[in-house]
Amino acid sequence: QADTVPQAPEDPLFGLMAAYRRDDDPKKVDLGIGAYRDNNAKPWVLPVVKKADEIIRKDPDLNHEYLPIAGLAEFTSASQKLLLGADSPALKEKRVTSLQTISGTGALHLGALFLSKFYRTNAKRTVYFSNPTWPNHFQVFSNVNLEYQQYPYFSKETRGLDFDGFIKTLKGADEGSIIVLHACAHNPTGVDPSQEQWKEIAKVMKERKLFPFLDTAYQGFASGDLDRDGWAIRHFVEQGFELVIAQSYAKNFGLYGERAGCFHFITAPSSDAEETTKRVASQLAILQRSEISNPPAYGARVASTVLNNPELFAQWKEDLKTMSGRIIDMRKALRSKLEELGTPGTWNHITEQIGMFSFTGLTEKQVLKLREDSHVYMTKNGRISMAGLNTNNVDYFAKAVDKALRD
Ligand code: PMP
Repeated sequence: QADTVPQAPEDPLFGLMAAYRRDDDPKKVDLGIGAYRDNNAKPWVLPVVKKADEIIRKDPDLNHEYLPIAGLAEFTSASQKLLLGADSPALKEKRVTSLQTISGTGALHLGALFLSKFYRTNAKRTVYFSNPTWPNHFQVFSNVNLEYQQYPYFSKETRGLDFDGFIKTLKGADEGSIIVLHACAHNPTGVDPSQEQWKEIAKVMKERKLFPFLDTAYQGFASGDLDRDGWAIRHFVEQGFELVIAQSYAKNFGLYGERAGCFHFITAPSSDAEETTKRVASQLAILQRSEISNPPAYGARVASTVLNNPELFAQWKEDLKTMSGRIIDMRKALRSKLEELGTPGTWNHITEQIGMFSFTGLTEKQVLKLREDSHVYMTKNGRISMAGLNTNNVDYFAKAVDKALRD
């Protein structure tokens, strides 16, 4: 039977990582992977995560029993508060149900699976992604047989948001379409709507009865401020939408491989919202049981230890500032070096974009040239991971870009 299985293409990002590892030039620069690196290009274990780990290990009652199907309760409830604010009416009115998932990807999958089974508002159940988006979105949603389209997002001219194109597509979408939104630090462009623009997006979505699927993978990591990065989500919840949220702790806790995340379903306000939420929870539990039975414990224990301890929480905020601050410094350094070199083009977008990634505007040809001539590894769409830059390589990278653009 297996001889009928066709060869699948290699995952482009993981292929890029392998090519980087094979390159033995000492000057090589990895700007592909979406993981934080310190100024020495090394993975960084957050100091607060080290502390939480010590606390967990010292616990004499620690064991390796199964977690409940919906995960660690103190983790999911702290996650709700982090996203929505402790005094959110949605929480008071018991309109939120949450399950611990296999990081953000697992949350997206659980949400997509739930919608594929139960979403009735729109017979076609079309899902809209931003153009461009995190490529895994396509696979996660098409795996559960949801059709997708895209809404314009990035303007090549301004290297900012194509707000008019975005709104126009929302206005033309069928009622009940599912709209996937990056809550902050859009991947891959680093371009986010302003608060005024988010208000307009929510208004149009309400009018057109569109369903928000919010993907949040960078809260606190983008600006260093958890509330600011959570603003769009809170705004949508305040507008009374029925919506879902996929939350990842990979980046903001540096818990990439531990797969800590959460899926949240929020019911719209109504007299029977609490009952509806309970029914939704019961179905989600069945889906979770059949997919993973119950989620992994360690990452959730670490995050929960921090989220539920005011002192550790305060330290976490400092660690977030360390990461986001270093990235912001690298944005400034890169822009000023390119401007100093007089590199053709404008470079204001480097500091205007936010979060882990920047869409440089480099073409595929220039990207490949950078790889061949200068051992710089980045994805073909011209995206760079800002975390791969540091005080030792930012000038080298700027000079390599300058050369690639002049040759
Ligand atoms: N959504 C987006 C937009 C992302 O950038 C990421 C991380 N690359 C994720 C979801 C989820 O990642 P993870 O499964 O590692 O939490």
